[in-house]
Amino acid sequence: MIKRTRVQEWSNGILLLGRFEWFGTGCWLLHHNGIGAILELPPYNPNHQESPATKAYNVCRKRAIHVKYILCTHAHTDHFSITTARDMHIAFPHAQFLLQRGFEHLTHELTNVQLFDHECTVYLETEPLYLIHAPKHSWTDTHVIFKGTAITGDWELNTLRSVHDNKPQHAVSTEVKLASIEKMARFEHEYRYHIHKVFSAHANDRREQVNFTALMHDTKIDRASF
Ligand SMILES: [Zn+2]
Repeated sequence: MIKRTRVQEWSNGILLLGRFEWFGTGCWLLHHNGIGAILELPPYNPNHQESPATKAYNVCRKRAIHVKYILCTHAHTDHFSITTARDMHIAFPHAQFLLQRGFEHLTHELTNVQLFDHECTVYLETEPLYLIHAPKHSWTDTHVIFKGTAITGDWELNTLRSVHDNKPQHAVSTEVKLASIEKMARFEHEYRYHIHKVFSAHANDRREQVNFTALMHDTKIDRASF
């Protein structure tokens, strides 16, 4: 039986469309005044779950949201599925894939792809949406900042460590991690922008009334448990 997931509004303009497969990666819709962006392209099993693209299409049609961008927090297989990317392209043929350059090798068969290196700012109508490349959990890590919320991908918070530290082909070096954390610690000051909520891409960490800059400084500490 196909399970249908219920949409949850995690914050004003930030909807969790569903969590997919056993790893529970979220697929999100960010929107403002009828303009939207899809975040995450998780794989799914069509035998027991509807496609994230079908879900997104139905929600956007019902709410009259025009999807302008398709985004992804990092290139791990639980976040980027080429099948889901293709489905999203069919559902939203005018939307642009806006991805960090490290996704390039995954996007050859897609059209309307814009790659960025360090940072990218776009607008959903009048509301800014910031994409900041900040490798810590993986080399393509991108923080997505919208309406006072940071969606931090799979970043391990409150510790310098990452679950991939023991995998040489995946691990991000300590120097690069520290530089990324420092970059995010400067964000509020440099962009004159207040972040007060932090969500993980898997929707398993939801923090409100957060001091984001302090959280980033705390994340520099090498703690064993997280
Ligand atoms: Zn993940």
